[in-house]
Amino acid sequence: MNPKNLRLIRNIGIISHIDAGKTTVTERILFYTGAIHRMGEVHDGLATTDWMAQERERGISITAASISTHWRDHTINIIDTPGHVDFTIEVERSLRVLDGAVAIFSAVEGVEPQSEVVWRQADRYQVPRIAFVNKMDRIGADYENVLKDIRKKLGAKELVLQLPWGAEENFRGVIDLVEGRAVSWNPDDQGVTYTAEEIPEGLQAAAATARELLLEAVAEGDEVFLERYLAGEEGGLEAADVRAAVRRITLAGRAVPVLCGSGLRNIGVQHLLDAVLDFLPSPGDLPPVSGVDPRTESPDERTNRADAPFSALAFKIMTDKGRRLTYLRVYSGKAAAGDQVYNPNRGKEERLARIFQMFSNKRARLDTVGAGSIVAVAGLKDTYTGDTLCAKEEPIRYEALDFPEPVIYVAVELRSSADEKKLNESLQKLRAEDPTFHVREDPETGQTVLSGMGELHLDVLLRRLEEEFRVSVRAGTPRVVYRETLAASAQAEGVFDREIGGKPQYARVVVRLEPRERGGGLSVSPAHPNVPPEFQPAVERSLTLSAESGPAGGYKMVDLSARVVDATFDEARATETAFEVAAAMAFQAASEAGSPILLEPIMSVEVVTPEDFLGGIINDLNARKGRIEGVSTRGNTKIVEAHLPLADMFGYSTDLRSASEGRATYSMKFSHYDAVERSPAREGS
Ligand code: GDP
Ligand code: MG
Repeated sequence: MNPKNLRLIRNIGIISHIDAGKTTVTERILFYTGAIHRMGEVHDGLATTDWMAQERERGISITAASISTHWRDHTINIIDTPGHVDFTIEVERSLRVLDGAVAIFSAVEGVEPQSEVVWRQADRYQVPRIAFVNKMDRIGADYENVLKDIRKKLGAKELVLQLPWGAEENFRGVIDLVEGRAVSWNPDDQGVTYTAEEIPEGLQAAAATARELLLEAVAEGDEVFLERYLAGEEGGLEAADVRAAVRRITLAGRAVPVLCGSGLRNIGVQHLLDAVLDFLPSPGDLPPVSGVDPRTESPDERTNRADAPFSALAFKIMTDKGRRLTYLRVYSGKAAAGDQVYNPNRGKEERLARIFQMFSNKRARLDTVGAGSIVAVAGLKDTYTGDTLCAKEEPIRYEALDFPEPVIYVAVELRSSADEKKLNESLQKLRAEDPTFHVREDPETGQTVLSGMGELHLDVLLRRLEEEFRVSVRAGTPRVVYRETLAASAQAEGVFDREIGGKPQYARVVVRLEPRERGGGLSVSPAHPNVPPEFQPAVERSLTLSAESGPAGGYKMVDLSARVVDATFDEARATETAFEVAAAMAFQAASEAGSPILLEPIMSVEVVTPEDFLGGIINDLNARKGRIEGVSTRGNTKIVEAHLPLADMFGYSTDLRSASEGRATYSMKFSHYDAVERSPAREGS
């Protein structure tokens, strides 16, 4: 069932640092909403969404991109947001299609770095959030400290809707400051039932103060509420009024409602579900989605309504039992199973052969699908992650997802040449699932080269190749993908003066190349009064193409501006080809003159270790030419933050394990490209 009324849908993600309790809380959500009938625990390897454990066991990919469930007549689609560093694209693509998020924090550990990173990504996508402070039953649980972290580390304003009732092993429920009631959960029926009663006397004063603070904060954030609050209506303010104001504040991103509980002890999860419906946006709350009309490339948009033309974004592709399943977020209109739709990214028509709503343990076939929904579709042949699907007569193309470029590559060779066709087919399937994975053939060696976001990323893909696709390959040493730029500005002239097919052709172009700041990318400007407007697109293409292969090693050139600063237009002999070639000649000459240098990927690395191993770990990072950014303390562990060239991080997980008796962990993500400070020949062949 997919509700017609958009107000009855919530598309949410759950974000958290590893171990904060995402899997445990999700299991409760599925249980209380009736999606599963028994709860499995993480420590038994039985939690429904503990994909990693099951993946390892079964050797197949069963990561669902989204699962649906129901609460109070609403459909909640929970979109998976995996946390691994090599898979940042997964987080980005989830944020793109979800409308709101629940951030889970551990009451003991507070706001941890990974949550901070995802929080900032969510800020960028302007995703409204609510916070759930989990693990209130654990020794050392400190609600106030998490609230402080939310303020200080995340720079967010908190709306404290609940206080914990009891603490650590005596934690039994919450004080609901909106309703003014104390709620406790029944430990004998896995928290299915709960009771609201008067706030116990000992907590009344604290609750009154906290409620006063909450109402003040709500009044500060919402004018409608402020008026009534100032009019002295405090006594007459209904819980529904407070909730309505909190909803407006949350949707506007002005503050974050905070709730608390314990997933493991089955406390507080139903209230969290209520908060998802009460405070997070429905697709009907969203502004129109903007894109471009692919016929004219001019801006266009679609309202999130069922009576608008059909449009959807493909956000994940999965191979399920050998068949391709495409996950869609439908933004506008509706479509029926069997309908033809148009893919403007590929210029092709596609058929929505079968449409499924995905539940945790089953899928339901749908006849139709409408605005606001998230579904999986079988039958799409030529649609990739980030592509739009739309009505052919009224096409729109949404901005594709922004994929990071690969920073590491490895050459592979088949163990048996008989597998060649199978290898190519398998790589195509993996590539369709994962746009950050690239495959090419090295023209010189004839080897197949795989590139991706990190050692682990390629490792996982190689293992899937063996286990899922039964293709056996030998992999070489992973290598870094370099870039190039110039250390100095330079300019040069290119002249094309030839007769082609008896017709003289002529153009002269002077190109100036200037280095830009790191991370500045490539900027190309073909505009010059002597380059006729009709030839400018060709000159621009030519300059962009020239930057694909730099003079230092044939790597892509970045952090560079290329401008046409002079040109000669000879009306009788000017042609597009002449301008194109002249621009390329000028670019090449200038790039050779401008002191080309190599850039390498620098990673930001975080190591978490017991104090005993700190010294050794820092020495090792220094030996790898790391720049230590800081060391901080969390509980009895130390956290080291550092920047290191990716080339110096190869094999780090093994080295770290042996340097810490397996007790330290690290995470790493791409930070930026920077000049290579040593000869790259050292690790060349
Ligand atoms: P995830 O990595 O965010 O998915 O976290 P998990 O749900 O796997 O939880 C990590 C560990 O913390 C598991 O051993 C859970 O049993 C435990 N855990 C989760 N929630 C709670 C809680 O509320 N209280 C306590 N004491 N432990 C919890
Ligand atoms: Mg988990």
